[in-house]
Amino acid sequence: MASRPGKTAPRLLQDLLTYDARHEERAGRNLLTSSPPHFDPDTPPEPAVPNRNCRHIFMTKPEQSVLPVGGEDTTHNTVYKIASFCQKCRFHLQLVVDFRDHGSKTLPCRTASDEFPIHHFVYHPAAPATNGHQHEPHTHAFQCTAPKCPVEVRIRLLPPRFTDSDIHLLTNKVALKKRLDAAKEMNLDRADAHTARCVDALDFLSTYLQDSLSPKQGKARIPLLNRKFLKTFGKDCDAILKSLGFTQAVELEDDGPVEVWHLPKPPAAARPLDSDTTRTVIEDARYELNSLIMKFPESERTNVRHVMFQPQPSINDIQRALGCLDYGKRPMTRAESRADNRDEDHPYYAGLGAVGDFNDALLLFAFARQSAVDTRNSTYYFECLQGIAIGRKSPVLEEQVMVMASQGFTNRKEVEDAYRYLGLDPSHKAALTDDIIISQFRARLGSISPAVVDETRSMLRIIGNARGSNDIIQEASNAIESYKQALNWLELEESQQDEFVVTMYTLKTHEHKSSIPTARKAVEIIAEARNSERLREFLESGELKGDATMDLGEAYALLQINDRTILLDEEVLLQQLTLAIQDSPEREAVYREAYDLIRADQKKRPKNSQTTSGSPRKVYPLAIWPVGCENIGNTCYLNSVLQFLFTIKPLRDMVLDCDRHFQELTHEALKDKLVGRSAVTAEKVEKAQQFVRELRKLFECMITASTSHVRPETQLAALALVRPDTVVPNTSAVDNLTSNLGQLNEDAQAMELTNSTDDDIGNADRPEPPSRPPPVPPRPQTSAQANIKAIEGYAQQHDAAEILNNIFDLFSSAFKGNGVLRDGEQNDLIKELFFSDVTTVMWAGEKINRNIALQDNHLISPGNRDRPLYAALDDEFSLTELDHAEEGEVKRKYDFMSKASPIQIINVRRLVLENKKVMKDDSHVALAEILYLDRYLGHTDSLSEQQLRALKEKQWHLRQKLKDLKARKQMLEGTEVKLSLSASVNECSNLIESLHKQKEDNLIDVDDDPLPPIPDIHGYLAVKAQALREEEAGIEAEMKEVDQNINNIFSGCKDHPYRLHSVFMHRGSSAGGHYWIFIYDFQNKIWRKYNDDYVDKVEDLDAIFKKEVKNPATSTGIVYVREDKINEYTQAVCREPERNASPEIQMIDAPDTTEYENIPVINGIAKES
Ligand SMILES: [Zn+2]
Ligand SMILES: [Zn+2]
Repeated sequence: MASRPGKTAPRLLQDLLTYDARHEERAGRNLLTSSPPHFDPDTPPEPAVPNRNCRHIFMTKPEQSVLPVGGEDTTHNTVYKIASFCQKCRFHLQLVVDFRDHGSKTLPCRTASDEFPIHHFVYHPAAPATNGHQHEPHTHAFQCTAPKCPVEVRIRLLPPRFTDSDIHLLTNKVALKKRLDAAKEMNLDRADAHTARCVDALDFLSTYLQDSLSPKQGKARIPLLNRKFLKTFGKDCDAILKSLGFTQAVELEDDGPVEVWHLPKPPAAARPLDSDTTRTVIEDARYELNSLIMKFPESERTNVRHVMFQPQPSINDIQRALGCLDYGKRPMTRAESRADNRDEDHPYYAGLGAVGDFNDALLLFAFARQSAVDTRNSTYYFECLQGIAIGRKSPVLEEQVMVMASQGFTNRKEVEDAYRYLGLDPSHKAALTDDIIISQFRARLGSISPAVVDETRSMLRIIGNARGSNDIIQEASNAIESYKQALNWLELEESQQDEFVVTMYTLKTHEHKSSIPTARKAVEIIAEARNSERLREFLESGELKGDATMDLGEAYALLQINDRTILLDEEVLLQQLTLAIQDSPEREAVYREAYDLIRADQKKRPKNSQTTSGSPRKVYPLAIWPVGCENIGNTCYLNSVLQFLFTIKPLRDMVLDCDRHFQELTHEALKDKLVGRSAVTAEKVEKAQQFVRELRKLFECMITASTSHVRPETQLAALALVRPDTVVPNTSAVDNLTSNLGQLNEDAQAMELTNSTDDDIGNADRPEPPSRPPPVPPRPQTSAQANIKAIEGYAQQHDAAEILNNIFDLFSSAFKGNGVLRDGEQNDLIKELFFSDVTTVMWAGEKINRNIALQDNHLISPGNRDRPLYAALDDEFSLTELDHAEEGEVKRKYDFMSKASPIQIINVRRLVLENKKVMKDDSHVALAEILYLDRYLGHTDSLSEQQLRALKEKQWHLRQKLKDLKARKQMLEGTEVKLSLSASVNECSNLIESLHKQKEDNLIDVDDDPLPPIPDIHGYLAVKAQALREEEAGIEAEMKEVDQNINNIFSGCKDHPYRLHSVFMHRGSSAGGHYWIFIYDFQNKIWRKYNDDYVDKVEDLDAIFKKEVKNPATSTGIVYVREDKINEYTQAVCREPERNASPEIQMIDAPDTTEYENIPVINGIAKES
């Protein structure tokens, strides 16, 4: 059943009595069909029913109704219809209670029943008629939720037959006076001296209609020139008459043609359940006229012809039909029953679909029904019940509620507290999957004291109960029942061997002897699931037979870690593994096992401030030092990106003050919003804003944390890593994440702003390598990490550049723009800070094409040799010949920045395809602290476009030379026998020489196959080889020189300086590794390394600017900021740590602040001296 709350019959009736279609919009919801808003005890309740709504008094129209009779039993053919109209607002109500059913529903709810004493209805929007009957338009259908109750209620409300302006037209004194004047002009001799009374039109109309319902001879028509008619209706009431079925005609009488009105001719009375006819219309009109005439004071309606009648109130009939004429009511005080303002019952009653006079038993019934049909909100319903129990001071109900609480019922607040207890934001509960909650719980378990484990479990149980999640309840109970749970308990992956199961068993039980029974059970389950004889033997004998288990010492030895007592850096350990596998790939499995073992061992070490070298890690004063971000999965480059964003001051400020900048969600506001050339949906904006709010939370933490590092929320990672328009993290976010990966990859292509030009250019001088830096390798995971796998999976396939691109897209979606760029693209802070206009000039023969694209980064290739950044950038901007040129015509292109953004992001393509294998290009890109952008622009302050172009052409010429040298070098380096050309020639020379020697020694018979008679061939070849070697060395030097010359061309171009701000770094192979970021603090003039948890000062700048010898770390992203903007746009330190640290986290005090006295600026404010 759909999760939608219902309401009991008395509640439905009460809502019906106050539902006013005229003011629905003002009420903000349809009181009849929508679920009431959840009451928030912290805000004062709003009136449940808007004041102007009519409190209807329904009167029965018996000729249109099939009324229930007291004491009568319903059958499977019973249908009641109460046709009524409201005396006050004249709306007509058709309420049908349909007991018909052709299936198994044969037991309608009834007061006498213990189980289902009253109906509990759920609204069916556009309900397919459950009983096989077609519904009238605008019918609201409700179905009883009791499993065996067939009852369906259909409610139809029709507006009055006479509109307010109709009534005005018929009764207004001014109009009547005008009609009299008109009548006098038309027909003087028969004119009347007095205007018609206000009541007359209504009175006459009622009489005419009465006559039409029961026709009498001679009264079927009204002559138009009848003086009474003329002064009462004139000619301006024709529309009203026609709408009631009157018709106009011209008839021949003795004294000529006469205009007349014919009375309506309604059909004979139909059966009440059939559709409405003109007869119904006329009947309705008469009821309305009756009410209207009765409202006139006696004195104004003397001698009316209309026979007044008093209809009967419908309320009892409606209650009887709905089965709630008599239900269990609570005893009320006199004052309470006198007040009788039921529409202002406490909102908790509406929440339960109940009304205020329910007795306790019926309230419990309403709670049970409501929780059963809308489990998602059961915690709210329990809160309602609790609230009412307290409000009523009913001991019985209070006791009942307490019993229920002990059985695990929880209210909304308790559940929200439980989420918060586990460090989750309850407002995201819909987006959190069970898996995320469980992994959060496990992560908590790892870091809390044993004393609060039970409490933590009970919090998880509350969440499990509230969500109805068996997985969570199981997890909370700590029971090991399944293979998966057994693996989790031992922190194992399914792929890990029996040996490792035993290792983990030993580690676990060694720590806590008390856990032996549980651990044994886990191993038993694993032995069973794997059908492992060896594990069973182990359980019996305590030994693992067969292959020897790797011992911890052996593991350390295998990875060449001599001192097993130190605390290893994760990165170092991984590096050892990578190196070991590189040396002997065939032993990979053994190394990985050793790695697992060491990692598990390391994890048990208390986290102290020791580093690999054994020297104490530096502790920085909290108040002036940026905080680190814990690695919540294999998402370290996400941390790099977040740290980077934090240092961009205007961006950080905007995030911190995001509410003021958010895009409104109206259709009007979104209509023209284009981000990345795509329209933006309200849903995407909401997701993007959710991301920004999460980011604000993190930023606030990073400013105020009283610790040296903070933990980003999983939710933030999910939102940052996944495009908002493709994946909506919802209750099954993890599934979605994985299932959408394929799609995401495609979308990433489509979204790139720079793609338009690339399409037809291609990449002329290089094969298209994969554009991503190395993914993070599948590391062995602890169980706590296992469940953010989906996010990691996404992270593995996308690099920092894509993540940054995605985040820019999120920002632009979340924030309102401040103007419009080319092609309707939204202008905003992101565009102003990061997006350049890149113009591509392309020509073949005479035809020149110019294309401008918005671009948030430049992608360079290191090109397999160490060289300066300029050289790599030149590749991207210089003249290029395109491969697929038209016949005879060479197609060429070059790029320049027609508008350069103040923050320039340069991404480095580190992965290359070599022999169909993905390799990492470790070449060093040498960075300068200042990058002059002049040569990549269209013109500079001092050089016109022509002057700059002339320099560029000089450069292009040299680059062509460089290209030729490169080709020659390649030829010299590589031959088919995998030797360089010089070595090949040398080898050849050696061979011939040895053959000659052999000949001289007569060791072989050479008569049949004489050697060519070239004297001293080997000597010649040896000389040649030497020459080639020299050439090879010479080319290397020459290339360097040309590089230098190219640089010299632009040595005078220094109008546009940019300062190096940050470098994204990676260490590892194409298969995996680790990311961090170096960021320069312009205010304090220091470089820092942001490595997940740790933010350290970089003492040796070679780490950033020089190439390491072995297994070098490489840059994957480089950021420069325009020199005149460095202080405005960047600020690395922004800290205001809170004084009182939370008790869970240990406060670290700076041991020695004097060391930092040379730091002149804190939080952008110069220190007092
Ligand atoms: Zn009304
Ligand atoms: Zn029922």
